Amino acid sequence: MTKFLPVVETFHSLQGEGFHCGKSAFFIRLAGCSVGCSWCDTKNSWDDKKHPLKSVEELSIETQKAVENGASFLVITGGEPLHHNLNFFCKTIKNLNKSIAIHIETSGVDKLSGFYDWITLSPKRHHPPQTSLLRICDEIKVIINTEKDIEFAKSVKETISNELPSYSKDKLTKKNYFIQPSWNNKLGYALAIEFAQKNPDWCLSLQTHKYINLK
Ligand code: SF4
Repeated sequence: MTKFLPVVETFHSLQGEGFHCGKSAFFIRLAGCSVGCSWCDTKNSWDDKKHPLKSVEELSIETQKAVENGASFLVITGGEPLHHNLNFFCKTIKNLNKSIAIHIETSGVDKLSGFYDWITLSPKRHHPPQTSLLRICDEIKVIINTEKDIEFAKSVKETISNELPSYSKDKLTKKNYFIQPSWNNKLGYALAIEFAQKNPDWCLSLQTHKYINLK
């Protein structure tokens, strides 16, 4: 049972990206990531030993206070949060207040632990996700740096579509596909905009919080 987790930071802000962009959210950024994306903007989170451990109870109380102050949901992010077993963490939060919606943002390289009201999967070309995560996630967000990432985005959607016979068509059609250019990457912006224009199943996501200097 994982009772303590390494934490980079916690903060109440607005979700800046993807489907829930603009909504009030409480973020818990867990430390530890071995995925190694070259464009990563949270490299300080990679080494979990550099960050203090916090108890699951303490994090749950922080979350409850943020909800009382207006947060619509909790976002567990990282790092790669699923490097940790989050069963006890999610259970503790829901025991405290079962109406708190728990979201997670993951690359999907590990198997799922914990339970969520919303799963954002950001699959990486150099370290593809588990197929089970592709099936159950609510939102796919592919980061675009080069043409190869566009091809990867297409292959991710194709893999999900191939799951149709073994999976609920309803859930598949409700999936939300986002393409998000890497921050300050002109080629990424151009490719993502062109792709979204030509592929209406996909929506452009921007890191809006960075434009307005929001955490
Ligand atoms: S998975 Fe996320 S935290 Fe890990 S290296 Fe990639 S972008 Fe950074």
